[in-house]
Amino acid sequence: NSRALLKKQREIDSSAVAYPEDIPVAFEEGKGATVRDVDGNTYIDMFAGIGVLNVGHANPYVLEAVHEQADKLVHTVDFPSEARLELIEKLGEIAPGNLSGNSKVVFGGPTGSDAVEASIKLAKYNTKGTGLVAFRGAYHGATSGAMSITGNKKFKGNYTPLLPDVVHAPYPNPFEQNKSPQEAVDHALEEVQAIFEDPYGGLANPAGIFVEPIQGEGGVVAPPEGFLKGLRDIADDNEVPLVFDEIQSGLGRSGRWWASEWYDVTPDVMTSAKALGGTGFPLSATIYHDDLDTWGSGDHAGTYRGHVVAMRAGTRAIEYIQEHDLLAHARDLGEYIRARLRDVGESNPHIAEVRGKGLFIGAVLVDEQGHPDGEMADAIQDYCFEHGVLIWKAGRHGNVLRLLPPLVLTEELAETALDIIVDAIESVTT
Ligand code: PMP
Repeated sequence: NSRALLKKQREIDSSAVAYPEDIPVAFEEGKGATVRDVDGNTYIDMFAGIGVLNVGHANPYVLEAVHEQADKLVHTVDFPSEARLELIEKLGEIAPGNLSGNSKVVFGGPTGSDAVEASIKLAKYNTKGTGLVAFRGAYHGATSGAMSITGNKKFKGNYTPLLPDVVHAPYPNPFEQNKSPQEAVDHALEEVQAIFEDPYGGLANPAGIFVEPIQGEGGVVAPPEGFLKGLRDIADDNEVPLVFDEIQSGLGRSGRWWASEWYDVTPDVMTSAKALGGTGFPLSATIYHDDLDTWGSGDHAGTYRGHVVAMRAGTRAIEYIQEHDLLAHARDLGEYIRARLRDVGESNPHIAEVRGKGLFIGAVLVDEQGHPDGEMADAIQDYCFEHGVLIWKAGRHGNVLRLLPPLVLTEELAETALDIIVDAIESVTT
């Protein structure tokens, strides 16, 4: 049945649709951390729709409110609704550091890219600047502004020229750069500093610094201590907003509400999407400090600036995470999963590094010579699929196994998934 659907999709759908060719599957039903395909096979979902389903598939607490809301009212553009005000308040409550209680929210359209566009516009609006500082390896989305600050040719190479005034600095990745954590941080910060100091080689009129507090698509890179703090200082010295893209890292994925909290650094602006719409509804938001709320009515527009059903789902999902203490669960289970993968790495040189925070996990695969090995990652992903576990990949070379399970993943299911992932690694690499 899966193959028939895939065949039809290939015939009638856009050739831009993207799913791994080796995973010929069509899904029919999901519950918690498992999904079933149209042939009745069940999988443990260790990628959660690329980090969307933090409260699991078909979360009943979220869906109860969704059904209720959908029966009453679905769309109001920007007119007030209880669902909208409730979510603004909830986001204010969980916003990090001094954003908490001092934040404003502008809802975007359905995608993370929308929130990123709004953050670029907000930074430009407030500074009257044009230049954007971003980072190599970053992924920020598929629209023109978001592609401009994305730091990977693969996603933007066919669409240049994009925004003209963007400079990419290195993102500290000690393993890839073969540096100590401190050296990697110093190097990255020196480069950012130079961009501000040298208007000829850098940006004449900077508008903001845009960064993922943990890079996702770039390979699950949690930067060493000191990097985000250093960026905070540079942004303050130059009076530009520091913008954190928390679209993949936020809403509990890292075991804190926001990855920035691990580093005790509060941004001026942050973006959220993916898990924001609860159990998979499309919604994005840009959350920013009150002080930046200088724009006027209609200065950022959009028909779907907030979708009432998705907003209701979002509030419920946050409540669910709070009530079930899923942040602590994500931290503990994430530590356990990383420890088990590191154990494998002790005796298997192909696992070069295991990294991440909470249930945002990456395992770096290398060949005999220590070079990134994307084919090995493909083969491991295929093996896992054939044995009932869905995993994803990341990194410029596609050589980082990426695990982003729902935060509701139980210890038992994690154990089963790990057994299969470890078998996959051993069988592919030995
Ligand atoms: N920013 C980050 C950090 C992301 O991981 C993504 C999606 N992978 C986006 C932005 C773009 O989100 P969307 O695909 O919903 O536009």
